[in-house]
Amino acid sequence: MKTLDAPVKPGGVIGIIGGGQLGRMLALAASRLGLKTCIYNDENHAPAFQVTPLQVAASYEDQNMLRGFAEICDVITFEFENIPSATIEFLSALKPVHPGAKALSQTQDRFIEKTFVASLGLATAPFFDVTSADQARAAFSKLNGGGILKTRRFGYDGKGQAKVTSADQAASAFDNFKNAPAILEGLIDFSFEASVIAARGADGSFAAYDPPENEHENHILRRSTVPGRLTRAQNEEAKAMARKIAEALDYIGVLAVELFVTKDGSLLVNEIAPRVHNSGHWTIEACQCSQFEQHIRAVAGWPLGDASRHADAVMENIIGAEADAWESLAKSGALHLYGKQEAKLGRKMGHVTRLKPKT
Ligand code: AMP
Repeated sequence: MKTLDAPVKPGGVIGIIGGGQLGRMLALAASRLGLKTCIYNDENHAPAFQVTPLQVAASYEDQNMLRGFAEICDVITFEFENIPSATIEFLSALKPVHPGAKALSQTQDRFIEKTFVASLGLATAPFFDVTSADQARAAFSKLNGGGILKTRRFGYDGKGQAKVTSADQAASAFDNFKNAPAILEGLIDFSFEASVIAARGADGSFAAYDPPENEHENHILRRSTVPGRLTRAQNEEAKAMARKIAEALDYIGVLAVELFVTKDGSLLVNEIAPRVHNSGHWTIEACQCSQFEQHIRAVAGWPLGDASRHADAVMENIIGAEADAWESLAKSGALHLYGKQEAKLGRKMGHVTRLKPKT
């Protein structure tokens, strides 16, 4: 595994695997710091290709293309976590990759991730490993009420998830997932959802943003509000949880920890995203250093920026055909459109952030 000997100087190249909106906003932030980006994406049309000076369109398994990509990059990062682990191993032998293989291996699989979180003494929903329909039934009988069956890998925005209210349903949900390894989680009757976005620098320094409250619709993030309903003590607890996780993973970069806030005020970890996160987009306008700039700083070995918030903010996603109303959205706040050609159902097309004076 390679590590950076010295910070990447202005003019250096940050490699980013993945060309979606997160890669696009990372590239824009890097550009402001005088750094170039090379985006590697497995399709020809990618939102991030529109804003990067260097790009590669090739399969994540194409070792020749990966080698050529690594040659022009000073350091490599990624904007999504479902990258084949062989790709990361291959690249790690050539150039520093941050966050590294450890962060990915602990967060790509829900069972491994929850076991890791629990090993740090942090609370999660009750969860059970499920590799057969019989195990799904047995696991359901250990829950106090309903559950959610989730595939261990490759789930996002509610994909690979089914709510179940009986042992029979748990078994048939497992069959519907075509026997993919899964976990059965107890359904949490939470008061609301929140997340904490934090960064750890190459020197072990740490910075966390104020945790937003998050609302979902159809399993997709609709709105992040900061400050939300978290108390001051919960804010600090959430930041301390993120720090514990980042340190245990020897993490370099930005990570997000999604949380359930229960009615008795406890914080449970739902999942860890080893990357910048949709619920942190408001940091572009409401903080001196956005989550995107922070990630670039961390992976490039630069000092972390100031994560404090100078405004209250509400960030709303623009989903599917909602983007047709771009003119009125442009009047209503800070509009970001991701340059996606087709407004498919459920697709994140952009977001808008509205600020208010800090309370
Ligand atoms: P996930 O893909 O794990 O982030 O789950 C997507 C969404 O499903 C979460 O943001 C929650 O709204 C809901 N959800 C997931 N797990 C649970 C759970 N154990 N109890 C209640 N709601 C859940």
